[in-house]
Amino acid sequence: MSEPILSARELGKRYRVRTRRFGRSRTLHAAEGITLDLHAGTVTAVVGESGSGKSTVSRLLARTTTPSEGTLLLDGVPVAGKPGRDYRARVQLVLQDPFASLNPVHDVRYILSRPLLIHGYGGPDLDASIRDLLRRVSLEPAEQFIDKYPHELSGGQRQRVAIARALAVRPSVLLADEPVSMLDVSIRLGVLNLLADLRDTDRLAILYVTHDIASARYLADTIVVMYAGEIVESGPATEVTDDPRHPYTRLLRSAAPDPHGRTERLGSRGTPPSLVTPPTGCRFHPRCPSAMPICAQRAPEAFDVGTGHTSACWLHAPAGAVPPTATEPAPAAVPAAVSASAPETSSEPESRPERDPQAPVAEDGGPMS
Ligand code: SF4
Repeated sequence: MSEPILSARELGKRYRVRTRRFGRSRTLHAAEGITLDLHAGTVTAVVGESGSGKSTVSRLLARTTTPSEGTLLLDGVPVAGKPGRDYRARVQLVLQDPFASLNPVHDVRYILSRPLLIHGYGGPDLDASIRDLLRRVSLEPAEQFIDKYPHELSGGQRQRVAIARALAVRPSVLLADEPVSMLDVSIRLGVLNLLADLRDTDRLAILYVTHDIASARYLADTIVVMYAGEIVESGPATEVTDDPRHPYTRLLRSAAPDPHGRTERLGSRGTPPSLVTPPTGCRFHPRCPSAMPICAQRAPEAFDVGTGHTSACWLHAPAGAVPPTATEPAPAAVPAAVSASAPETSSEPESRPERDPQAPVAEDGGPMS
């Protein structure tokens, strides 16, 4: 495989937050130890439930959020400081809600003309460049869409305009943050197929952020699974979905619709942990049906479980890496761990910092994502 275009090495993001429960500012660990590579002509899916930190990863890669730690490399060169116009042109972000990301008072012609003019790609015939962009995202005939306003378009058409706007600056990397989750089911497939075409014809490196592991399997070449701000499993998409190794990935897969009823239903255990006071050791241990004593004590590293396939789980540690007594099943540990090691866990409030105008909100003053 070719050299990666965009790479993250141990990227992390912390926010200072103030919650009603703690009464004083605390640190929220939104993402930690994020290491991944985006290659030309491939789709990498980041999968996880709400609050897992996957959108934080897309914003870190887009540099709309400043990392607290780690390194970002573009073509192998570290990206430092505030990114300039060159970085913005190479790495484009497409957001979840196309209606919110398009200015409602401007028509499609104006929306697409701005990046073309600012980056000098308008050419001698600006209208022809705009029509070409519309054709690339399958909004044809282009004349039918060029004078429309966002409210005159369907959700799928708006998302295609947002993608066309990203393509206007000829990026190498497209970061698509839940690009189909707000669209009708009937038109999601069309947008996913558009992303697949852009990967194959334009050789874009695409990051596809989603909570839907089934769509990740359909579109992606590689899947990265996140839980509580950390990567817990990664590997080839078919391997991760057909033979998930990490217990959390198995839980995610079991929650996906299966028209054939072949997928084992595992049932839900507990709720995602607080990112202010994440569980010790493996962050999944309060919910894990396979938890062992060591799981609450030491965080596992990413162990190889196949070619390019890793799982951050003690179940996959090489022989001798874990003391035998530490691996004895601890059947009572799971319910106990829910109340003992994550006493401040709740389903939502701690992972959503309250906005207190008097309190420092984030280390970089940026918004929570
Ligand atoms: Fe479960 Fe332990 Fe593996 Fe974590 S490390 S997923 S708690 S078995």
